[in-house]
Amino acid sequence: MTLLPAPSHTGIVFRRTDADGHGLEIAAHVDNVVDDRMCTTLGDGNGASIATVEHLMAALSGCGIDNLYVEVDGAELPIMDGSAAPFVFLIECAGVVAQDAPRRAIEILKPIKIEDKDSQVELLPGDGFSLGFEIDFRSAAIGRQDMTVELVNGTFKSELSRARTFGFIEEVAQLRAMGLALGGSLDNAVVVSGDEVLNEGGLRYRDEFVRHKILDSIGDLYLAGAPIIGRFKGLRSGHALNHAILRSLLADQSCWRYTNVPRDQDDLFEELNEVPAAVSA
Ligand SMILES: [Zn+2]
Repeated sequence: MTLLPAPSHTGIVFRRTDADGHGLEIAAHVDNVVDDRMCTTLGDGNGASIATVEHLMAALSGCGIDNLYVEVDGAELPIMDGSAAPFVFLIECAGVVAQDAPRRAIEILKPIKIEDKDSQVELLPGDGFSLGFEIDFRSAAIGRQDMTVELVNGTFKSELSRARTFGFIEEVAQLRAMGLALGGSLDNAVVVSGDEVLNEGGLRYRDEFVRHKILDSIGDLYLAGAPIIGRFKGLRSGHALNHAILRSLLADQSCWRYTNVPRDQDDLFEELNEVPAAVSA
């Protein structure tokens, strides 16, 4: 994967550079999601696709990156350690530059809510961008976890970026039979067995699980095509429900409007360095 600078108003655009990718060039937008069972996959409907975009999208949102080309020489982004921290590291190594155009955001104007069985998601008006999430698992390793965080002044990097994806060992056989999680291991996920975490080093945050759910939600919501100004609340939600509320939001013009991000909220990155040609993982 290589990240390349892009002009203002480009948005985030993925490109397949391998022969099997048929030159796929696709915008990071919820309209282009073709699969959201385990991870988020973007595709053009003609067979070529790029999977597992959510952790990079979260890092881009958290680091305030509006315009970028993401070149990938395969059908899936590198999973790295299952978190967004390696991507934040790469972005910081490369440096970020402020462009001339104002940042355009999607401002939530009135509450919108979606429920599915015992899961629900909400988007509400608010200053800045904040996310609350609650999960409830029978496993004592996870239990009930609840967190609210506002994305300002590097909170993505410090509070969320290192939270890894997680799974239950009991589900691995089933997932593999479906052709999913084939590369999943203790190196790129927190693996829970019953009431125990199997990873030797334990957890990176006491409540790493809910933090990863917030990280995922940030990546999912960035498929709006612009940063969101408002509050997100998730209860036992996942990729599919996060995408569903985004589609409902964008379809209802009375719920949102485009607005320029005020300069004082445009402080996700404290240091701006010169931008290099590209950075790779
Ligand atoms: Zn994830």
